[in-house]
Amino acid sequence: MSKVRVYELAKQLNITSKALIQQLEDLGIDIKNHMSTLDSEQANLVTDLLTEEDTEKKEKEEKTIKKDKKPEKKQIKKENKKSINNVQESHIEDDYKEMLLPSSIRVGELADNLSTSATEIIKKLMSLGKMVTINQEIDFDTASLIAEEYGYIATKEKEKSIEEELIVEEEDRPEDLVKRPPVITVMGHVDHGKTSLLDAIRETKVTAKEAGGITQHIGAYTVQVHGEKITFLDTPGHEAFTSMRLRGASITDIAILVVAADDGVMPQTVEAINHAKAADVPIIVAINKIDKSTAAPDRVKQELTEYGLIAEEWGGDTICVPVSALTGEGIDNLLEMILLVSEMLELKANPKKRARGSIIEAELNKGRGTVATLLVETGTIRVGDSIVAGTAYGKVRAMVDDKGKRVKKAGPSMPVEIIGLSEVPSAGDTLYVLKDDKLARTIAEKNKEAFREQNLVKTHRLSLDDLFSKIQEGEIKEINIIIKADVQGSIEALKQSLEKLSNEEVRINTIHTGVGGISESDVMLATASNAIIIGFNVRPDNNAITIAEKEEVDIRLYRVIYNAIEDMEDAMKGMLEPEYKEVVVGKAEIRQTFKVPNIGTIGGSYVIEGKINRNNQVRIVRDGIVVHEGTISSLKRFKDDAREVLSGFECGIGIERYNDLKEGDIIEAFTMEEIPR
Ligand code: GDP
Repeated sequence: MSKVRVYELAKQLNITSKALIQQLEDLGIDIKNHMSTLDSEQANLVTDLLTEEDTEKKEKEEKTIKKDKKPEKKQIKKENKKSINNVQESHIEDDYKEMLLPSSIRVGELADNLSTSATEIIKKLMSLGKMVTINQEIDFDTASLIAEEYGYIATKEKEKSIEEELIVEEEDRPEDLVKRPPVITVMGHVDHGKTSLLDAIRETKVTAKEAGGITQHIGAYTVQVHGEKITFLDTPGHEAFTSMRLRGASITDIAILVVAADDGVMPQTVEAINHAKAADVPIIVAINKIDKSTAAPDRVKQELTEYGLIAEEWGGDTICVPVSALTGEGIDNLLEMILLVSEMLELKANPKKRARGSIIEAELNKGRGTVATLLVETGTIRVGDSIVAGTAYGKVRAMVDDKGKRVKKAGPSMPVEIIGLSEVPSAGDTLYVLKDDKLARTIAEKNKEAFREQNLVKTHRLSLDDLFSKIQEGEIKEINIIIKADVQGSIEALKQSLEKLSNEEVRINTIHTGVGGISESDVMLATASNAIIIGFNVRPDNNAITIAEKEEVDIRLYRVIYNAIEDMEDAMKGMLEPEYKEVVVGKAEIRQTFKVPNIGTIGGSYVIEGKINRNNQVRIVRDGIVVHEGTISSLKRFKDDAREVLSGFECGIGIERYNDLKEGDIIEAFTMEEIPR
């Protein structure tokens, strides 16, 4: 036997890669993962060992390995981890234990949790100047102070949602947990072939016979590979992925990163990598378009190393599969790799209980009413079940699968279209099957109420202004930032300087960087990760501005790196200077340019928004990047000087000491207003 990969040998021996890895470890052969290669001696050794025993025994053993040895190993790992934590803890403070506390707690209850009497607690509270009775509630901050005296470090419990409070989900007995298909999202740069790849997989794997008709686009589909199912989400791109995550739905198990072999790593490739990393989802790289003569898969691998993705064949742990969505080459291999990775992830769910899942698409259909696609996460949903999803509730009247077939039930990782909800839920809402209609209705109504209240009290996201107070209150330990800039060099400089500001109290963490304007997806990532966006010589586009306002994401724009660093430093110290807010008063688009002797270049412009005033400061924005900032030297309507030109009118604009105006440039006019802190 020559050199062989672990998963290949496992296949030959008809056992799982996991079991083989276990066997190899028992033999003292150290291997990294299923893609590692074994030399012939190692392969022969383990093959001999496994084939010596009769088949029956082997099966038995395999089961034992699966059932017994694994927990043992896990436990060891856990214990290791624990002891590491303990060591760390005991370095900082001796023997403090951890405790979860709600946002408010009754004095009596706190006493119980601390195994002391309520009188003791009341005494301690009195010494803090608080007069309370046993049945009174105290807030988290006070409770954690008391807990500290008893040797506990308290962390705040996550607030429970209405569903979490009212629904008691049945417990999973270990014997009810069964393997479930992985859920895959395809991401990558535009035109690298995400849609083509999804179509190719669907076409090659879903035969007409199986379909029993035409395949339906319901937002997700499943394919069968070697008798195992894989579920693909049908909306490619990280925007959809992150907007789902924003709503609390983390349904993706594995991300497929599509990179065109003839184009390499592009801005959205990097975004996709960062979005997947932020969500802690493993990445498999599909190097697409290898049919092209200009394909350079090795260059792609090289470029990926810069983002921490090192191909397995180069000693890393990222699986890279060359494919062509056009010819179908490599697609089987890609699917096998998906199965392999999901085997490692040990994805399991309990199909025996009432279902819970995520809404991935929903619409109002003229003939059928509310139609929503559900991806079941756990349990089994059946026709007739009482359901609730956000503010929508009802009974499942009918279900249709991705092959257009009517089905009576759907289990874990299965996408189904369901009919019967009272209104259209939002993508990302969690759907629950409940024991009766009444509870479904109650929850929907409570959600409506909460929704109304939420609209009144807006959520507060992290901003530089309140950074200091949050650090003081110990509310944040990490400041997530996203850096967008005009050139890569500025990004590196900013990233390094800002991260260097980290101290013992807070760490500054760059979760995403990119060259180009600030987009909607940057803002969504910031929302999902509670990050501040730093823009250097770039501008947010209109969508980004709208969402940032709605979600209260702090976007800071700079033209001097030093100012960005200074602001962050001051914010961390609580010494931010009174701020000047820039107010954009109008935008004009250059439709044509004229060279005027002795004067320079004039932009024949059309005011597309607001108005342009002769005294405004202006910046020239080209493809989202600020190319110049300055003042207006001349503003003319026809031949006449104008003081102001309103939206919908044409004008000629000259910029002080700047002649490099181009067609398509946006002239953004603004004034600076001081805002008191
Ligand atoms: P998306 O924007 O990432 O969804 O990309 P599309 O799937 O729309 O593909 C963009 C273009 O690349 C289309 O013209 C496809 O026909 C082409 N394309 C996609 N995959 C391949 C491939 O494997 N080989 C070749 N030669 N072209 C491809």
